[in-house]
Amino acid sequence: MRQSTGKYINKLSDFLEQAENIAVVCHTNPDGDAIGSMMAMYHYLLDKGKKPEMVSPSDLPDFLKWLNKSSEIFVYDSNSEKVADVLAGADLHILVDFNSMSRTGSLETELNRQEKPRILIDHHPQPDVKADYIISEPAFSSTAELIYDLVSHLEKDSYRNPDFIEAVYTGMMTDTGNFSFGTYDGETMRIVGALLENGLRKDYITDMVYDNFSAGRMRLKGFALAERMVVMEDISTAYIYLSRDDMNRFNHAVGDTEGFVNMPLSIAGIKISVLFLEKDDHLKLSLRSKGDFSVNDLARKYFNGGGHLNAAGGRLEMPLHDGIKYFESIIRKEVNK
Ligand code: 5GP
Ligand code: MN
Repeated sequence: MRQSTGKYINKLSDFLEQAENIAVVCHTNPDGDAIGSMMAMYHYLLDKGKKPEMVSPSDLPDFLKWLNKSSEIFVYDSNSEKVADVLAGADLHILVDFNSMSRTGSLETELNRQEKPRILIDHHPQPDVKADYIISEPAFSSTAELIYDLVSHLEKDSYRNPDFIEAVYTGMMTDTGNFSFGTYDGETMRIVGALLENGLRKDYITDMVYDNFSAGRMRLKGFALAERMVVMEDISTAYIYLSRDDMNRFNHAVGDTEGFVNMPLSIAGIKISVLFLEKDDHLKLSLRSKGDFSVNDLARKYFNGGGHLNAAGGRLEMPLHDGIKYFESIIRKEVNK
């Protein structure tokens, strides 16, 4: 059950009051909640008369580029000098939506080199980030919802900026799989109700996020299901793997495989699902589960990663087919425990 975030407000206000130039930073391969929570914070700070900047370690997917002011996000991979300047010029760094510095990828070294006051705002369990102040609330559906709650306390429920509302809703919607999981205590739905009363364009956002793909992406999805899905029925597990050649064949763009990991969970009886993506120098794994099998524990133990009970990620330094073999051997052991 979630706790009130009221206890954070005095300290958070102090940090915000003392800072003028504020860098808000999200995790690498940013998803809807990383971008949504970063942008929500950005719009709020801008309205408070601060000078905020947004920093992402890597580029954002097209299905998030409709968000107002998303073009002002500085991307470290393509603009590293500017990002270093922004971080150096800030008197406060606000890190959002991750629980481990390794989630900032190539930006980690640069962030750690700078000794700036640092706040973490996140909803992943077991935060392991060195920060001057940590606001970690795993009972929240998303970091965006947590930021909405904090701002509601700070502004006594009177803050209604439309850009803020759209950013918050985008984070909440994407991190809950369009409100299909992680929304158990009613509060998430009550917040959606409040956002609607304040003018939220719900159907527009659904359309921009979920119905905004290229034909190549739809074909890649069909190919992945038809040719690259392996079902291990006896252990309620299924996985999908995509090589670099597979992705190139369908003109893969950033974000095209978003959501693929959830597809095998639609098969009756399947409780664990994994997506293997072959990257230039490693394998990226996405893991999902239903029920009490912890993919967070699995990712921590075997795949240098982590996440939540039912949604986690990790990596392997192995060729694709070795990684799959390794997974097959350990998953059988772990499921039968
Ligand atoms: P996704 O599979 O969508 O990339 O990530 C699912 C969840 O796992 C997210 O909540 C994300 O924060 C977490 N996650 C993904 N990759 C990693 C990783 O490499 N390390 C850790 N600690 N968490 C990850
Ligand atoms: Mn999140």
